[in-house]
Amino acid sequence: MKILLVEDEPKVAAFLHQGLTEQHYSVDLAPDGLVGLRMALASNYDLLILDTLLPSLSGLDVCRQVRAQNTAVPILMLTALGETDDKIRGLDAGADDYLVKPFAFQELLARIRALARRRQETPATTAVLRLADLTLDPSRKLVQRAGQPIQLTAREFALLEYLLRNQGRVISRVDILEQVWETSFDTGSNVIDVYINFLRKKVDKDFTPKLIHTLVGMGYVMKEE
Ligand code: CA
Repeated sequence: MKILLVEDEPKVAAFLHQGLTEQHYSVDLAPDGLVGLRMALASNYDLLILDTLLPSLSGLDVCRQVRAQNTAVPILMLTALGETDDKIRGLDAGADDYLVKPFAFQELLARIRALARRRQETPATTAVLRLADLTLDPSRKLVQRAGQPIQLTAREFALLEYLLRNQGRVISRVDILEQVWETSFDTGSNVIDVYINFLRKKVDKDFTPKLIHTLVGMGYVMKEE
């Protein structure tokens, strides 16, 4: 995965460059907005990480100009603490996500993984998903089990869709937080268990075989048992 990091603070840039390289990402570094923009448009990156406050051209302007070229590359903005307006303007300018400085390096890694996965999954979003007699139609937002329609809330639907797209694979709570709740902060609550129980009641309780399985200490897997 090829990342362009646009960051003018040498210490931060060096720290992130080293950390990401150690995680086997290939990282190019740009020290200001203009150089960053030129590099972003000249080469095929899988991700842009843009600091907001940059010399010569702001991160927001880089973001806007990259988007103006119809480039679908995921963009993660770095904003300073307290600059909530920047966060909103960043999303308006076409950024996919933002991270407030100072942040934990693990948090940055989680956001990068989430953006990479979201990108990979985009093309397959419309095909109907099936497991046993359960079907989920992403474009019509319809779920049926044994031919009976099942009513789900938006969050339950998103969770079921994610589990079905990954059927047969063990999905951890962290995966679910990142992909369905789009956060990697464990709130310390049992929100995921609660939602899994909601889904079980609607999708599994009155049917056989059971499709949603818990693996203690590991997470969940959807499969025919
Ligand atoms: Ca800066």
